[in-house]
Amino acid sequence: MDCGEIRVLLGLDRCISCGACTDACPSARHGGVIPDEAVASVTDGEVPDRIWDCLMCHRCSMACPQEIDVAEMMSLLRSISEEIPERYQRTAVQVYRTGRTFAVSKRTASQRESLGLSPAGEADSDALRPILDREGWPRE
Ligand code: SF4
Ligand code: SF4
Repeated sequence: MDCGEIRVLLGLDRCISCGACTDACPSARHGGVIPDEAVASVTDGEVPDRIWDCLMCHRCSMACPQEIDVAEMMSLLRSISEEIPERYQRTAVQVYRTGRTFAVSKRTASQRESLGLSPAGEADSDALRPILDREGWPRE
């Protein structure tokens, strides 16, 4: 897939450059990705900057009067991106090793206890690994 295919798939030509997606975007508000500019970039055939700063909150898609799924565009752009930021690679390795996106720290355990929640059980990473292997998931 490339930008041209994303453009067609999501109907980016319907964009009227109203900026509603950017007004709704928490990432843009804090110096991250700017959705309306990202849509314009993809329409011009270029992968925009800062796609990894998208929070996947879907506010842009809900705000768009043209019903363009801008969040889905971000997701597709990530799937074709050649460079995955280090912080996401670290999370991927953590998932491979433990089945979790984060380590259960002593603090987390004590907070669960204080809230009356059961201890966090072991994640079944053995069951997960064959699926991740098949998808070429990073191990280290
Ligand atoms: S899904 Fe991403 S681009 Fe859309 S509003 Fe949320 S942070 Fe912004
Ligand atoms: S809200 Fe929709 S129409 Fe408006 S700029 Fe964003 S993508 Fe384009």
